[in-house]
Amino acid sequence: MRRHVVLGTLIAVGALTMAAAAQQPAAPAPMVVEVDKLKDNLFVLRGGGGNTTVFVGADGVTLVDTKNPGWGQPILARIKEITNKPVVRIVNTHTHGDHVSGNVAFADNVEIVAHVNTAENMKMMRNVTSIPAPQPNVFKESGGRGLAERTFKDTMTIGNGADRVDLHFFGRGHTNGDAWVVFPALRVMSAGDIFSGKNLPLLDYNNGGSGVEIPDAMMKAYTTTAKTVDHIVTGHSTVMTPNDLREYAEFNRDFLNTVRAGKKAGKTAEQIVKEWTMPAKYTGYAAAQPARLQSNVEMIYKEIN
Ligand SMILES: [Zn+2]
Repeated sequence: MRRHVVLGTLIAVGALTMAAAAQQPAAPAPMVVEVDKLKDNLFVLRGGGGNTTVFVGADGVTLVDTKNPGWGQPILARIKEITNKPVVRIVNTHTHGDHVSGNVAFADNVEIVAHVNTAENMKMMRNVTSIPAPQPNVFKESGGRGLAERTFKDTMTIGNGADRVDLHFFGRGHTNGDAWVVFPALRVMSAGDIFSGKNLPLLDYNNGGSGVEIPDAMMKAYTTTAKTVDHIVTGHSTVMTPNDLREYAEFNRDFLNTVRAGKKAGKTAEQIVKEWTMPAKYTGYAAAQPARLQSNVEMIYKEIN
């Protein structure tokens, strides 16, 4: 079970916030990083964008994802309350600004690891499909500091024994570089936004995403890890289980099949969007955002030919 642990004060105010407060008439929203303890040496930091996983190993801390611009310092402040070990490594699950932007706050000797496609995507920080606002590009301002320099293609193992971290790529989905990060000794996996929660997924075609391949990638993640993982840290939601992941893969397979069948029957993408409703068997799923539903149907419609 996930225990909610409050470590010190709930509000971590970074130096950046203080500086911003001095310049702006209206006080900015406090930068709140909440800490959920999942294991004695594994924590989930919430707030400020995507979930951040903190794994405390013998030699230091491995982080998975670093939130929105300006959130690196609040993350560091929280980690200092958890352990006095230094952060030695960041794994970025994919290229989005709410998962990678805190990278720039970490010391130069922190190793940054990502899938080879994500490392390339991070150099560009292209706009995200279906999101009108441009992606923040902190790396442009930092002169490339915080970009990933160590990459993998299919799998990579870092460390061994209790410290072992396995990285996997199971195919395109949310983007073309979604990393699944497994901590075998703890039976925990961090999924990033290819499993952001129980919702219609964001399919970011601008960054190589695919609604045709996403069900296979999810099912491969499930079959590969179901026997060795108990908990899955999602990209933005609560900690879930392999059964949740299998159901989510099926949900995405059903969505793809609906678009496929509609197109085959001569329907337009617009008609398919209008007719789609959340299947009743998927309980606890967030209502579809209209813009995302439209984008996903239109993009899959084009992708299946
Ligand atoms: Zn994302």
